[in-house]
Amino acid sequence: MATWKMVGLSDTGQLREHNEDAVGWDAEQGWAVLADGMGGHQAGEVASAIAVEVIGDELRAVADSGGALPLQGAVELANAEIHRQAQQQPRLRTMGTTVVAVLLQGERLYFAHVGDSRLYRLRGGELQQLSHDHSLVQELVDEGMIDAEQARSSGQKNVITRALGLESQVEVAMGEAELLPGDCYLLCSDGLSDRLRDEQIARLLDGESLPQLAQGLVDAANTAGGEDNISVIVIRVWE
Ligand code: CA
Repeated sequence: MATWKMVGLSDTGQLREHNEDAVGWDAEQGWAVLADGMGGHQAGEVASAIAVEVIGDELRAVADSGGALPLQGAVELANAEIHRQAQQQPRLRTMGTTVVAVLLQGERLYFAHVGDSRLYRLRGGELQQLSHDHSLVQELVDEGMIDAEQARSSGQKNVITRALGLESQVEVAMGEAELLPGDCYLLCSDGLSDRLRDEQIARLLDGESLPQLAQGLVDAANTAGGEDNISVIVIRVWE
């Protein structure tokens, strides 16, 4: 059985008045969820909070039953709940949120995501992005229309093509990975990944104290401008 530690941090950043990101995790049960809300007039805060609450509640109840299925079900449930509340309250009509969530069991990590919040893994000094953004620029990269560098500087990089809460149903992207000792996983919102390059993220993840790592990532994104809310959850796997 792999063991792990995890720690999360969410920061408003330098320019925004509100933090529309939300994070939740339970190291003992082995799950974590991060959401980046949108919708104006603080509706984004409501959407991301519902996502973290519903997914957390659901995983708390089913985490022991295992596998990817409960994780996917939890995200679908959050989608339905955000959509339901958006329909009921005019102020919240356009709210939605990205989400990235992980469930760790035995030697496996299961992940689910919607939108452009990301999951990275640092293994053997190499950073790999395990999630695949649901965004306009990612689609353009996939079609070979632009390269990764052009995607970074694109004015459309925040246009996402999938989010929780916009429709009564959502297609959740799922994946899984084997946990190896020394692995470091990072869940983050685009307030981090827009500001830092892979080399910086890899360097900042390479340290001993998880709270210091998380703070170091947030500080670096703030130093690089901090235009958006910045959220991270860092997970380190031990023997
Ligand atoms: Ca954001």
